[in-house]
Amino acid sequence: SSLFPALTEALADPDGTAAHRSALRFGDRSLTYGELAATAAPLAARVGEAGRIAVWATPTLETAVAVVAALLAGVPAVPLNPKSGGGELGHIVADSAPALVLAAPGDQLPDALASLPRVDIDVRIDVHAGLDTDLDTGVRAPGPTPPALADELPALVVYTSGTTGPPKGAVIPRRAISTTLDALADAWRWTGDDVLVHGLPLFHVHGLILGILGPLRRAGSVRHLGRFETAGVTRELSGGATMLFGVPTMYHRIAEALPDDPALAKALARARLLVSGSAALPVHDHERIAEATGRRVIERYGMTETLMNTSVRADGEPRAGTVGVPLPGVELRLTEEDGTTALEAYDGETVGEIQVRGPNLFTEYLNRPDATAAAFTEDGWFRTGDMAVRDPDGYVRIVGRKATDLIKSGGYKIGAGEIENALIEHPGVREAAVTGEPDADLGERIVAWIVPADAQKPPSAAELADHVADRLAPHKRPRVVHYLGALPRNDMGKIMKRALAHD
Ligand code: ATP
Ligand code: MG
Repeated sequence: SSLFPALTEALADPDGTAAHRSALRFGDRSLTYGELAATAAPLAARVGEAGRIAVWATPTLETAVAVVAALLAGVPAVPLNPKSGGGELGHIVADSAPALVLAAPGDQLPDALASLPRVDIDVRIDVHAGLDTDLDTGVRAPGPTPPALADELPALVVYTSGTTGPPKGAVIPRRAISTTLDALADAWRWTGDDVLVHGLPLFHVHGLILGILGPLRRAGSVRHLGRFETAGVTRELSGGATMLFGVPTMYHRIAEALPDDPALAKALARARLLVSGSAALPVHDHERIAEATGRRVIERYGMTETLMNTSVRADGEPRAGTVGVPLPGVELRLTEEDGTTALEAYDGETVGEIQVRGPNLFTEYLNRPDATAAAFTEDGWFRTGDMAVRDPDGYVRIVGRKATDLIKSGGYKIGAGEIENALIEHPGVREAAVTGEPDADLGERIVAWIVPADAQKPPSAAELADHVADRLAPHKRPRVVHYLGALPRNDMGKIMKRALAHD
């Protein structure tokens, strides 16, 4: 079935209403659905025979067009992070073995891609200021009807963020994309009238599947900022955009800017939906934004392998520190340490591993049958590796990743996030990360990594101890404090704790 009904309609009727709707805008370059169809269809015809293709995924119109073309053709696309080093690109190219790479005409490709035939993504636009820029492709006749494609056909191979180890290629079928986007549409009342403000890269699930394919599936539109800036958020939301999708580092920048930027506060107050995901949104930032704008950020929780798992309904009640409830169609459970016994009841206290089942799941890790097998239980539950508690009414509170965020100290299992949230509330702390390190007495001791707000006057360990004494039980208080200029983060702003532990 078609992933993008509006695009199919625009192909069939280039002068119809669907064709004139605005689809994508990056900076001053934009495409209507008709223009997108006219641009992507010839490209789809060119790649139609390939087994798998790579896309040089810069934050541009070209990347969006290339991925849409691959989806129209039914050829699995592998979005490549242009900022990854040669080693990682070499690994991904060898692992995914694409037949060719699609890139924007001026792009310089690194040596790691030298062996691949290159096809330019040809987006010809007459640039002028209006929203619905004319595209002179010469194609006004109905385009070819895209082939009907099976739901199980692989659509994308998306590499995980590599937060806990080398990135793995998750094979994502068309079915997972359509069901996850429709579940979000249901929960968020997401329609074709929504205009999304987007400032994320296009090679992960968040930026590509939610940020580009989501609006296109709804026949809505995207305003991509190129690079995230609060000024761009203000401009687009004041100009009629309705939703903002971001990662916590963006909301942190927004929270920091709000006291001196009433225009930003006003713009955010107008938005229909503010959504955060990809990592935990610190409670402090959630609260500061709520105070300044009257709007609560909705958190959603997902991952490359499962696309979206939980969120809060548009008419629901976002709660700081939670990621909401399972989306329609998603089965979610917490298990005991054995990884197979489900917890009996939600008591808001017992920590278990989140496991997920449903039509939103990936098929396999490319070339990694052992990793794929290890990731599923006998009954087909996917082991997320994320630990959480559930409130009695079903809200999920993520405690952290089993591998890096769960500290076993003095017989307790302690989540790093709660401690990080407490530390960040200290005015002298800009950022905080918490890890465990081996301790002869405790098993592990709690270590805090602090980025001071003022490098000249970092809060002392004694001050921090005083600060957390009011907020955390004794066994949750850091024993060691390290100071840093910045936390090691990847391109999604996720803290790379394995880099901290090895410092
Ligand atoms: P890798 O699997 O390569 O180590 P990764 O897990 O960071 O990298 P992604 O699939 O991009 O790769 O990220 C998914 C993870 O991000 C989830 O498993 C979870 O740990 C974290 N995450 C996503 N959304 C949230 C959220 N709202 N709150 C807390 N954590 C989140
Ligand atoms: Mg992961």
